[in-house]
Amino acid sequence: MPQIRFDVLTLFPEMFSGFLHSSIIKKAHEKGLVETHLINFRDYATDKHRMVDDMPYGGGGGMVLKPEPIFSAVDELLSGTDERPPILLMSPQGVPFTQKKAEELAQHSHLIFLCGHYEGYDERIRQHLVTEEISIGDYVLTGGELPAMVIMDSVSRLVPGVLGNESSAVTDSFSTGLLEYPQYTRPAEYRGFKVPDVLLSGHHARIEQWRRQESLRRTWERRPDLLESAPLTDEDRRFLQELAKDARQGE
Ligand code: SAM
Repeated sequence: MPQIRFDVLTLFPEMFSGFLHSSIIKKAHEKGLVETHLINFRDYATDKHRMVDDMPYGGGGGMVLKPEPIFSAVDELLSGTDERPPILLMSPQGVPFTQKKAEELAQHSHLIFLCGHYEGYDERIRQHLVTEEISIGDYVLTGGELPAMVIMDSVSRLVPGVLGNESSAVTDSFSTGLLEYPQYTRPAEYRGFKVPDVLLSGHHARIEQWRRQESLRRTWERRPDLLESAPLTDEDRRFLQELAKDARQGE
């Protein structure tokens, strides 16, 4: 029994083959933790040309995805069950995707993704079928397939057992509310560039303190907006005050 099932409605199922057959997502499927079904909603078009899009009422350029094939595909997925999984519309007009949203979606056992193409969707799909519209950023892509893969990837990482080392998801950037601290591996010195001594010290408490402080420093430098909602201790706040003071003195 998979922990999470993804149903993806797309006109281009072949776009998912590299993604589903590589790396962690491939292993997650092999372990039976994640299950993905690709549904070409063109199969639900009823006219002889199997049309899934049409010209917009009122004129203007671009084609609009018709409601019938998409509604029918979802109806079939949900027939015979009372389950009402989130139906996620990939859209640049949606709420911005974040780690918090990934965590929220990972609580579900079933997600349905709707990948658009062309100019847009018939508005009735938005109003009467989907439960959420999600954007992966303020730019426009050709279709919703890449956004669906982005979301599937980040959600899968949070499914228990998918990552070999559970702690790596816990310390990932954003999971702690902060950006991740800098990482180093062997050699201890490369082209004269040294790994910080503390990491070679074997002193776990000091290493933890260094990591926390570097995480705070990096977030303060690159994404100070995250500090407004990150859970911070008094010690964290004192460290941030020191950073701000040093910066003022350096001006
Ligand atoms: N005309 C649409 C608009 O202005 O909102 C954009 C259509 S876009 C060319 C085609 C499809 O790509 C969208 O329906 C959506 O599924 C997907 N898409 C494009 N950019 C996206 C983004 N930033 N996030 C999520 N989906 C996106």
